[in-house]
Amino acid sequence: MKTYVIMLAGGTGSRMGSPVNKILLPVCGIPAIVRSLTSFVPFADYTVIVSRPDDRTSIVSALDKSGLSLSYCFADGGPTRQASVQNGLHCISPDPDDIILIHDAARCLIKADLIERVSNAVRKYGSGVPGIPAVSTFKMIDAASFVQFTPERSHLYEIQTPQGFKAGTIIPLSQRASEEGFDCTDDAGLLEHYHLPVKIVTGDASNIKITEPMDLSRARTILQGDTSSMRIGMGYDVHRLVPDRKLILCGVEIPFELGLLGHSDADVAVHALMDAMLGACALGDIGKFFPDTDDQYRGISSMLLLKETVRILQEHGFCLNNADITIAAQKPRILPYIPQMAANIADSVGLSADRINIKATTTEKLGFEGRMEGISSYAVCSVIER
Ligand code: MG
Repeated sequence: MKTYVIMLAGGTGSRMGSPVNKILLPVCGIPAIVRSLTSFVPFADYTVIVSRPDDRTSIVSALDKSGLSLSYCFADGGPTRQASVQNGLHCISPDPDDIILIHDAARCLIKADLIERVSNAVRKYGSGVPGIPAVSTFKMIDAASFVQFTPERSHLYEIQTPQGFKAGTIIPLSQRASEEGFDCTDDAGLLEHYHLPVKIVTGDASNIKITEPMDLSRARTILQGDTSSMRIGMGYDVHRLVPDRKLILCGVEIPFELGLLGHSDADVAVHALMDAMLGACALGDIGKFFPDTDDQYRGISSMLLLKETVRILQEHGFCLNNADITIAAQKPRILPYIPQMAANIADSVGLSADRINIKATTTEKLGFEGRMEGISSYAVCSVIER
């Protein structure tokens, strides 16, 4: 039984007051669409991203930067939600028993346990839709704004995504609805219209939809308040300074008479960062993943290893949140290169530059760094468990 994800990433930023599609806006440094897709990685066999053609290049570049490994294609958004879903469904040929999960990319705080609940309900009941019991009182009103009646609150649920269905149900219904010109605002509405059961599973209050600017700060508050999923890592590395080697720090080649000796390009700062990232996730150290006895890593750019480390973290359900790197070197002067170094790291790990800090210090001519025998680097980072 396979799982297909229809990720709805159309729409515009009109209510956000942003010229950019809201799903491309960073939420705690990571674009909303990347956050959404990351959560589905452990579940999705194949993903269809339904978007405006104009946004495709930006989405592809955000995905490349994230290092996410994903089998996916694009479908064009339609004039209505249902038309968009229909376009997405046209791109796949699942078996009738396969699971289709339809998700609004703007609900980018989606967590694995909710996806699991929805998937389990689909296996058991044929459909699964997350809902939260209403806490407010709702009124049905008429066209002149007079109250008609008050629905019983205990029967009211606020509905979220992902909404899950058996492929053999949703695909023919979606086709039939489009032929009959029936339109509804969510996917479960199709099953209701054709008198099929829709099973509600417990939703998640933090699974909010990013619609207005206020939602971005709500999302940040939720992410930052969720310290249970935050971990800290620390890394330290040293490489010897020798003649006839390049000096490469955070992917920047710095002109100097000495360079760092090592099996790879000996980018000591990137090595410290990678160790911090793996350490935060209790995954060991870089020697375990990239042994210096392995010929494929000889002379390799450590920036490539960093990208691979991002992927390893993602595979284990983690993403980097921020990093602070210190480089201890008596010479050369590193300060002028720091903006480029920070940009390189931010780019490789798929975070915005304001989440990466790099600083350089001398050791006042003390120790091996002071005698210019080597350069050391310390890195501290936080990662978030998805
Ligand atoms: Mg090293």
